[in-house]
Amino acid sequence: MAKEMGAAVKRDIKDIARLLLNAESVVFFTGAGVSKESGIPTFREAQTGLWAKYDPEQLATPDAFEENPQLVWQWYDHRRQQLANIKPNLGHQVIAELEKLVPKVVVITQNVDGLHQQAGSKEVLELHGSLISHHCYENQHPAGEIKPGLADPPKCHCGSYIRPSVVWFDEELPPAVFDLAEKEIKKASVLFVVGTSSLVQPAASLPLLAKHMGVTIVEVNPDETPLSGVADFALRGPSAEILPRVLDGLKDLRRN
Ligand code: NAD
Repeated sequence: MAKEMGAAVKRDIKDIARLLLNAESVVFFTGAGVSKESGIPTFREAQTGLWAKYDPEQLATPDAFEENPQLVWQWYDHRRQQLANIKPNLGHQVIAELEKLVPKVVVITQNVDGLHQQAGSKEVLELHGSLISHHCYENQHPAGEIKPGLADPPKCHCGSYIRPSVVWFDEELPPAVFDLAEKEIKKASVLFVVGTSSLVQPAASLPLLAKHMGVTIVEVNPDETPLSGVADFALRGPSAEILPRVLDGLKDLRRN
C-alpha cells in the first residue's frame, strides 16, 4: 500500500506540478536508482552470487579487460542475462508518459540497461553507453548485439576482442553525447535528478551546470546525496513511488 504523504511533500509536489504545467523543456538526469524497482542492483550495493567477491569499480575498467578479458566479459554477460527478465518500472513509465503532457522531455542517463527506451522515452542520451551493443576493443569496429551465454569474448574480423559498448572508468564519455547533454541542460525549464549518487564524474557535473544556469532542480532519491544541498526540491523516496505522484499532481492541475 502506498505510504501517506506528509503535508510538506504534498506542497512540494503541487509546486513542482505547477512548474511542469508551464515548462517548455523538462530534463531527467537518471542513475542506477531509477532501475532499482526493476530488480537491477545499483553499483554501490553488494553484488550477488558468484560476483559478490568482485568490486564493480575494478571490473569496469580497460585495465581489467586487458588483464583478464574472460572475467570482465563474463561479468557483463551475467548482467545481460539478468536484463532478459527485467522490465521498466513505474518510474521509467512516468518519464515516458510525460512526453504527452509537456512540449519536450529529454532523458540523460548514466544507466546502460536500455529501460528508458523500453518504456517508450524517445530522446535518451546514454552518457555511459549501453550494455546491449558491442564494439571491438582495439579499433572500435561496431559489433551490435550479441546473444548472452558466451564464456569468452568473441573476436572481431581485425583480431581484437569484442567488448560491451559501455563507458568504463578511466574512459572518456562520448563527446557528442556529453555536448548535447550540456545543451539540453542549459535550455531546461526543470531538471529532475533521479536515482543517482552524484559521485561519478564528469556526469555529476551536469546538475551543477543546471544550477549555474538557474534551472530549477528536483532531486528524487531515498537518501541524501552531495547534490541535495543545491537542489531546489528534494523528494525523498523511491522513484517508482515519487514520480507517479508528480504525474498525478500535473494531471490534477490540467483538469482544473
Ligand atoms: P549509484 O549506485 O552510485 O547510486 C544509486 C543512487 O540511487 C543512490 O544515491 C541511491 O540512494 C539511489 N536509489 C536507490 N534506490 C532508489 C530508488 N528506488 N529510487 C531512486 N533512487 C534510488 O549509481 P549512479 O549514480 O548511477 O552511478 C554509478 C554508475 O553505475 C553509473 O555510471 C552507471 O552507469 C552504473 N550502473 C548502471 C546500472 C544500470 O544501468 N541499471 C546499474 C548499476 C550501475
